[in-house]
Parts: sequence; structure tokens; C-alpha cells
Amino acid sequence: MEKRFYLESLGCARNQVDSNAMSGLLKAAGWRPTPDPAAAGVIVVNTCGFIEPAAEESIDAILELARMKRDGECRRLIVAGCLPERYREAIGEALPEVDVFLGTGALQEVAAAAEGRLDAACRLPDPAGCRFPAPLGGWVRPMDHLAYLKIAEGCVRRCTYCIIPKLKGTQRSRPVETLASEAESLVRGGVKEIVLVAQDTTHYGRDLTDPADLSALLRALSARLSPEVWIRLLYGHPESIDEEMIRTIAAAPNILSYYDIPIQHAGDDVLRRMGRRYTGEDLRRLFDRIREIDPAAVLRTTAIVGFPGETAADFDGLLDFVEEIRFDHLGVFTYSDAEDLPSHGLPDPVSSKTAERRYEELMACQREISLEKNEERIDGVYPVLVEERIEPGLFTGRGPFQAPEVDGVVDIQERDPGNPPIRVGEFVRVRITEALEYDLMGEAE
Ligand code: SF4
Repeated sequence: MEKRFYLESLGCARNQVDSNAMSGLLKAAGWRPTPDPAAAGVIVVNTCGFIEPAAEESIDAILELARMKRDGECRRLIVAGCLPERYREAIGEALPEVDVFLGTGALQEVAAAAEGRLDAACRLPDPAGCRFPAPLGGWVRPMDHLAYLKIAEGCVRRCTYCIIPKLKGTQRSRPVETLASEAESLVRGGVKEIVLVAQDTTHYGRDLTDPADLSALLRALSARLSPEVWIRLLYGHPESIDEEMIRTIAAAPNILSYYDIPIQHAGDDVLRRMGRRYTGEDLRRLFDRIREIDPAAVLRTTAIVGFPGETAADFDGLLDFVEEIRFDHLGVFTYSDAEDLPSHGLPDPVSSKTAERRYEELMACQREISLEKNEERIDGVYPVLVEERIEPGLFTGRGPFQAPEVDGVVDIQERDPGNPPIRVGEFVRVRITEALEYDLMGEAE
């Protein structure tokens, strides 16, 4: 019987990179991917376990696919990634349908698992020792023109609300030369935008035997890739972004002035309890400095509301901070408690009702700011990467100020059909004609 596998990838772009590499390993072992889980002899679910809702989504997907062992060809169900890494042997008891569990340190054993060559049903080695996905290539290409490139795995920090260091181990950066040649081959293959991801991109390289830093990596990528390509950086950290990085980004034509720097809060007491070693004043200075050195800077951040001990005054302070800094993009999350988090048990928990109210209030504040910032773009002309053809003469795409999946889009009206033709995966210059809270509308020039 032909060896066919189905892979379900859950979670963030960094997880998708791991799924892409596992798929590469299975193909190298003679397995063929199928989009139909019912036709697969082996099903792999690469899970997310970052917060409880994500863990529940993973369990739902596993139970759904486990039905294929009864209704389909499936002979082996493999569950990989953060869920088994977080819940360890307990998940085995809860999910008897699963044949093999691979923790984040055992993803490279997926082919052996598929062929029943593992001597244990639960493989949970320490992820800190794992160099996966090297040498398989640490990238994923969700669209022909777009690729995520993982520059490091793991994290050196200990934010009290975060389970990642426990799931992924300490930071392991990938060498500059490996990343530059991977990026070059992606661009040769038609990629127009490369998004650099890690848990903390701005801490890149300090763990390498031949230490490097993010500025060195960015300079290498900028020099090796065409000026037309977009290089975007996500998941920075306020503690490790420095002036040299800002100057490198500002100076390079193909590195987008897009600064994704999660602050999580702006109240000093809350930040201290979160294990974030900076103050609201430090953040203010950082964003002022970025805008001074790089006036074209687009700022994205995230904030957590409802963290234990967050007072009404702390929240008002965060609201004032967001109104003062006026981020282009802001993602808001309510604190998600769990017993295995360092923050579990901190005094003065905030009720979910209060957290929800604060979430709504902060989002409402940002909606206004986002609309005003979008209105400032009316009559401006921007390069837009076309991503989809909606109907004849109407397309959507993203400007350099919009990251994939998390920010708004630009709706593009073709002014003169076919002249020049607008193509998905290509850049087109667009004059912005209308602004909405998150999206923009414009005409192709
Ligand atoms: S820096 Fe990010 S990944 Fe690392 S511990 Fe903090 S929140 Fe988690």
C-alpha cells in the first residue's frame, strides 16, 4: 500500500516552520503527502499548547482526526509539538487514540514514528539539546510570494505568564550563512516577502559559537537579497532592541521599517510581576528613539490585560500610554492562567468580567487610533504586494505597513483593466482613496 501522510499544522508561524520540516523528513523517507486525512496511512498533528484555548483546539483536532483510524486508512496517529511537551505523560492517558507523542525535542523522529520504529510511544527529550529544523530548512511558504524564516528557536527570558521557555528550551540561533542562503533560494524561487520569526528575534545570535547579532544578520540578508524584496521582522523584545538595529533597519532599502515589539503592559508594577525588565519610561524612550532615527517607522505591539494585581489605575495608565504612543497596530489579550505558569497563584487575581471590560476598552481606543492613522494615508501612493483576486478588477494585498495574518489589508481597484495587468504575488503601486478602521481601499496606479 502506498505510504501517504496527512499533516495538520496548528499554532503560530514558528510551528508551521516545524510542520514544513517534518513534512520534508517524511517525504525524504518515501512518504507522499495527501490533503485528504481519510486517505492517509499516517496522520501527524503538530500541536500548539501556548495557552489553554490553543490546547483545547489541538485536542479537538486530534479527536476529529482520530476518527480516521475507524473511518479511513489511518493506521498510526502521531501527535507532535507543544501539547505533549506541556502536558507530558498525562496527555497519553487522556488520549488513548494516539499511537505516538513527539515532544518539541523529538520532531526529527517523525519518520521513525510513522514507520513504527520507535521503542516508546512518548518521546520527550529535553528540547534545549535539539537543533531542529536544521539542516532541513527553517522556513515555510504559506503563499508562493510569502515565506516565514525561523532565525532561532527557544527563549532565554522568563516572563511569568509564558510557558514557551519550558516548551522550547533556551534560545538556539541558526547561523547567519545558513539563513542568508535559505533566504536567497526562497527569493530565487519567487518569494517577494520574507518574514523573520523566532520567540525573541532581537536577541538573535548571542548564543552562536561565533557570536553574531540581529544587525549583522539583517545586513547580510539586505546585501544578499534584491532591493525589491521585503524583509520583515516580527517578535522583537524591548530589552534587546538597540540603536544599531534601528539604524540598520532605517538604512536598508529592503528591510521594512516595521517594528513589532510586544510591550505586554506599561505599568511598572505589572511589568515587574510579569518578569519584564523595563519600565513604562524605558518604553517611551525606546519608541521616541525609533521614530527619531526612523521617521517611517510602523509600530506594532501587544498588551495583556487582567494580569494578577493589575489595578484600575494600572489599566488607566496603559490606556494613556497607548493613546500617547499611538501604535499603528495593537493586539490585546486577556491574561490566561494555568497551574504550570510562574504567575499562577500571584495575589489579587482580576475577574474575567473586569479583564473582558478592559479588553473591550483598550480595543475601542486602538480602533480610533488605527482609523486616524489609516486616514493619514489617504492620497498616499504605496507599493502593495497583491495577495488575492477577489473578482475581475478587484484585488487585495498588503502595504509595507501591514504584516500578514495580523494586520489589515488594502483593497485594490484596477483602474484600467489589463493595462498593466495586476498579478497575484507581484507588487503594484496603489493610491489610497479610502480608510477604514483596519483596512484601506485604493486604485492601482
Ligand atoms: S520573551 Fe516571549 S517567548 Fe520568551 S518568555 Fe517572554 S513571552 Fe515567552
